[in-house]
Amino acid sequence: MQITIKNQSYQLPIYLPDATLGVARSLDSLDLARVGLEGVMVNTYHLINRPGETVLKRLGGVKKMMNWPGFVSSDSGGFQLFSLLQKNPDLGKITDEGIVRYNGPKKQKKTLFTPEDSIRMQFALGSDVMICLDDFTPPTADEKRIQQSVERTIAWAKRAKAEFKLQLEKHGFSKDNRPLLLAPIQGHNHEKWRAHCSKELQKIGFDIYGLGGWPLDEQGKFDYSFCQKNADLTTKDSLRFALGVGTPKNIVRLFFMGYQFFDCVLPTRDARHQRLYVFRVDPATLNRQILSELAAADRLDEVFDYLYMGKGKLATDAGAISEFCDCPLCRQTDGVPQVSRAYLHHLFKIGDSSAWRLASLHNLRTYVKVMEVLRKVY
Ligand SMILES: [Zn+2]
Repeated sequence: MQITIKNQSYQLPIYLPDATLGVARSLDSLDLARVGLEGVMVNTYHLINRPGETVLKRLGGVKKMMNWPGFVSSDSGGFQLFSLLQKNPDLGKITDEGIVRYNGPKKQKKTLFTPEDSIRMQFALGSDVMICLDDFTPPTADEKRIQQSVERTIAWAKRAKAEFKLQLEKHGFSKDNRPLLLAPIQGHNHEKWRAHCSKELQKIGFDIYGLGGWPLDEQGKFDYSFCQKNADLTTKDSLRFALGVGTPKNIVRLFFMGYQFFDCVLPTRDARHQRLYVFRVDPATLNRQILSELAAADRLDEVFDYLYMGKGKLATDAGAISEFCDCPLCRQTDGVPQVSRAYLHHLFKIGDSSAWRLASLHNLRTYVKVMEVLRKVY
């Protein structure tokens, strides 16, 4: 399965690491390309603050700033504002017009962030996959709040799409050579409102539909049935983005539910916490059919495992992080890995900054490998 964004083709499924401020922490664009990544997810809100819209426009957008040949997806910028307001309601409020922020303690000065602002900023970033501003449904919301967040999400998506069309014209994009627009589906786990949200968004028409909200149940466990129900709300051929998902196991299971796009902070965050992802079996022996059968039987633990670099017994282990990995660390010359378990353990132990980069390279290569296996048809 393939998708074309701004005249460039990409194979699906695809995983995008988190490059919040235009950098996947400790890695440069060459590193990202080296492990086979083709896209990154950036954060509109943070980038518009730093380096700022003026600088980004001068540089020609975030891709030029990063010298990144792949594609860039950007979030709406709303999530950071919601999190901020949830922690401290004195900082602003959400209205039908947009997100209001107070600039002073007496709430005298206000700034408004609208769905139109979000789209304009994403054009300033030069994003390839843009996301509509939505009204995130808090997991604790009662039905009244769920209804409000769904109705707002639909109204804002309509406004975002109108602005998107205006900006396409302004920037001279043709019909076949343009960025894509994604609308997240909200409604938490309330079936009626989530179905309504999905139906109305599909009437407006978007390129990709996002899994909005938390895919976690009340016990904090990953909620696969929630993800399945959400996927089933869109027509069979729809493109679906599992926003913020997940571990390799989560990704494989959601791929078979019909999700093709994934972005997640886990592989790089875990890398910085010495948690490395390893295959239990040679990925060369895997393909889509085998993974589909293992996913259906909930047996993916037989494929994916973790290695904790902090363990003392690794101090003298000269082996590769993973015998099945072909990342720059694990690649072997005459049976000797470029970076052994012992060496990475040591680098973490002494707190050298290279440890983050090396561990991230390995984890990201593992994620790319998962994508490669899922693209392989039996
Ligand atoms: Zn590796």
